[in-house]
Parts: sequence; C-alpha cells; structure tokens
Amino acid sequence: MTRGLPPWLLAVLFVLAACAPLILALASGEPPEAVQVELGIGLGLASLALMLLQFAHSGRLETIAGRIGIDRTMRVHRSAGIALAVMVLLHPLAFVLPPLLTHPELALRGLMGMLRAERMQSGVIALVLLLVVVAASLARSRIGLAYDRWRALHAALGLAAATFAVHHALRVGLYSEAAPLRWFWLGGLALAAVALVWTWGIKPIRDGRAGWRVAAVAPLGPDYWEVALERPSRAPLPFAAGQFAWLAFGRRAPWDDNPFSIASAPGDPRLAFVIREAGDLTRTIGSLPIGSDVRVDAPHGAFVLDPRERRAVLLIAGGAGIAPILSLWRDLASRPDAGAVRLVYGAWTAERLLYREQLTRTAAEKGFGLFLRVDEGPLCAGATRGILDEAILRAAMDGLDPHRTVAMVCGPTPMMLAVAASLERLGLPPAAIRYERFDYD
Ligand SMILES: Cc1cc2nc3c(=O)[nH]c(=O)nc-3n(C[C@H](O)[C@H](O)[C@H](O)COP(=O)(O)OP(=O)(O)OC[C@H]3O[C@@H](n4cnc5c(N)ncnc54)[C@H](O)[C@@H]3O)c2cc1C
Repeated sequence: MTRGLPPWLLAVLFVLAACAPLILALASGEPPEAVQVELGIGLGLASLALMLLQFAHSGRLETIAGRIGIDRTMRVHRSAGIALAVMVLLHPLAFVLPPLLTHPELALRGLMGMLRAERMQSGVIALVLLLVVVAASLARSRIGLAYDRWRALHAALGLAAATFAVHHALRVGLYSEAAPLRWFWLGGLALAAVALVWTWGIKPIRDGRAGWRVAAVAPLGPDYWEVALERPSRAPLPFAAGQFAWLAFGRRAPWDDNPFSIASAPGDPRLAFVIREAGDLTRTIGSLPIGSDVRVDAPHGAFVLDPRERRAVLLIAGGAGIAPILSLWRDLASRPDAGAVRLVYGAWTAERLLYREQLTRTAAEKGFGLFLRVDEGPLCAGATRGILDEAILRAAMDGLDPHRTVAMVCGPTPMMLAVAASLERLGLPPAAIRYERFDYD
C-alpha cells in the first residue's frame, strides 16, 4: 500500500540535488577565485539548493514520505532547515574570513558595507526571511503561535525567502550567471512553487470534492470521541491498517487540516477515528454536525505491517495511540493467517481504556493476547496496575521469538522511548520496532 521511493534512493537523490550546484559551478570552467571567496560561494550555492529542496518535504508527497514516514520526513526538513540557516549566516562571513581573523572590526565594517550595497538587497531580504522562518518554527509553541497560522506563514515566508535568494544568486552570483546554473535555480524555484500549489491549491479542491460527510460522533470516554466518516455510493478508501488521514472539518483553509490515524479496518465502508481532546479543534469534535462536509487527504504514513513478513505481531498502545493500533488489530482479526498477535494497551484511568469489551471479545475469539494497564484510579476487569514497563512487555513476549516478532508502538513520546528501550533489552532488533508519533514538535 505504501508508495514512495526506497530510503537509500531518497538519500542518494537528496545528496545529488544538494551538491548539483557545486558540481555545475566546478564544471563551469571559470578560473578559481581566492579560497575564502570560493568558500563563501560554495556555502551560498549549497544552502540555496537545500532551501529549494525543503519544499519537497511537506509530508504530502507520497513519493518522498510514503516509505520513510512523515515523522522522518519532518525530521529531515527540520534538521536541513537549521543547517541551511547556519550556512546562510556563514555565507557572507566567509568572504571576509582572512581580515575577520586578524582585524575583526575592519572586517565587520567591510561586511556591513557589502550588505548595504543596492545589489545585495535581495540577498539580505532572503537572509532575514529565512531567519524569521526558522526562529518562528523553533519557538512556535513557546510564543503561542497557532499551528495553522504558523503553517501558512511558514510556507509563504519560505517561498518568499527562496524567491529573493534565487534573485540574489542570479544578480550577484559568479557561477549562477552561466546558463546551466541559472536554469537550475529557475527550475528549482518553479518546482518549489508547483509543490506548494499542488499541496495547498489543487489537492484540497480535489479532496474536498470526494464527498466525505460526518456519519456519527460518539463519546468514548473522558476527552475521547469516535468520529465516523462515510461517502455513500463510493468504494471504500484504499489504505493499509496503521495509516492516517489529514482531516479538515467544515470549510477550512487548505493549510488548516489535522492528521488523525484511521482506526477502522481497510475495506470498512466507514472511516473511523479516535480523537482525543488536545486543543482548539479537537475540543470542538463533540459538536460536529452530522452530515457536515469533511475534506479527507488520505492515505498517508508508513506505520504499516508488511503482509509478506511472517512474524508474530506485538501491538503496543498508550492513550490516543490506540487509534492506529486498533486498525491493525481489526485488520489482523479479519485475516485467517494472522499468526500470534498480542496487544499491550495502557491508559491513565480505566475509563480511558477504550473499546475494552470489543478487544476482550476479539482476543477470546481469535486467541490473541490482551494485556491492559491502568496508571491510576480503580481497576477494571482484565487490567493490571502500572505503566507499560519491561515486566508487562516481557509477559506479552512470553513464548514469542524476539527475532521473529515485529512491534508496532504508538503513544506519548516518552512512553515510546521507554518501550523501545525495553523491547531492545528483551531481544527485539531495533529495525523490528516501528512507531508512529503524534507530534513533530
Ligand atoms: C501522524 C499523526 C496521527 C495522529 N493521529 C491521531 C489520532 O488518531 N487521534 C488523536 O487524538 N490525535 C492524533 N494525532 C494528534 C492530532 O493531530 C493533534 O492532537 C491535533 O492535530 C491537535 O489539534 P488541535 O487544534 O486540537 O490542537 P492545537 O492546540 O492546535 O495543537 C496541539 C498540538 O497538536 C499538534 N498539531 C496541531 N495541529 C497539527 C497539524 N495540523 N499537524 C500536525 N500536528 C498538529 C501540534 O504539536 C500542537 O502543538 C495525530 C498526529 C499525527 C502527526
């Protein structure tokens, strides 16, 4: 089900694209300049290539995120953003490197003079915009910037920064004046703009016309809701258990949609979601009008089982992390050849252990293992007290070969880190521990 390029090919393409301007500059036949000038130019060329590549990392392009997952895609985007900001800052400094080491005051005066020159204006604007984009991303939650506003700002300022940076390269760039590099920058900028128009222009219109409506909204427990979507007279959405959808309830801006894991099994005509109240949007889920429109961009994500793998499956869920795990559990329950399946599911209180009866029934019918944990308050039938520690994971692994078991983990980040460490101690290879994160912060 997951489309997308293999990780090794993505890495090779990424490095090639980031280095392409340096290769084109080397091949231009221009006589070499002083070392500090070449260093400054090199930093400028590589950082502009990285900046343009950032537009491919929106997480919506399945060719890129389909196999590696949106979480890794976002991590690359974030790290590349920080790296390119540092490179862009070093880019002008490199030109004055020798005097900076011997006469820093003189060098800085020279640098300020250079930056004030009329022909440098677009470069300075690009630098400032880029620093604003990176700083706003790093400080978003601390400064209380709403996610949807930050997202719109991020894309708009990012594209503006890239446009000014390309203008700067074409205006003052020694190598960028020549045809191959000039077309490389213009082509890269056009592709960046196309990626944005596709993600936030064409795709939302197409997804909005797919006819999804809210079919049911029901409380599941304190802070939890089940939302079912349907589109009558259309085939079920093809997806793999564990994947997620970007949902926009009602008429929302293209950048105002939120990711939620699909909790229903593939083939089910209704799409079900388990939504925990976390902020502005999720606190209004309970009052969603039945029959209202929903924009659905799906399927996404790589938190899936490979059906060709003949392995035991250990599902581990904490809190809202039950959503994709439920889809995997339901899908495995519908397969006659599912093999050994165990679920370890923990919640803060017994009322927050969702779908208890359904899980217990399936476990009994299919012979699946079920291990329920409650942190606080009264216990419920079948649950034991405690967090998802090594003891409960060891009990769940009893009789399973760690080298022939795959673990699918979803829950709060600290829980997932602790669980992954315990599973490794229990003998699972790191590659057999897969997880889905619910936040990119
Ligand atoms: C792949 C994935 C699957 C998810 N599946 C589920 C699920 O099945 N059930 C569930 O309850 N929650 C799920 N979440 C979390 C859910 O997306 C957020 O809780 C929700 O978007 C919060 O929106 P809000 O407006 O209510 O809160 P806000 O106060 O706006 O945001 C709270 C936090 O949620 C995150 N967030 C908000 N909006 C977005 C966005 N558009 N994109 C990415 N992150 C955002 C940010 O970290 C933010 O700080 C999932 C998240 C991801 C990334």
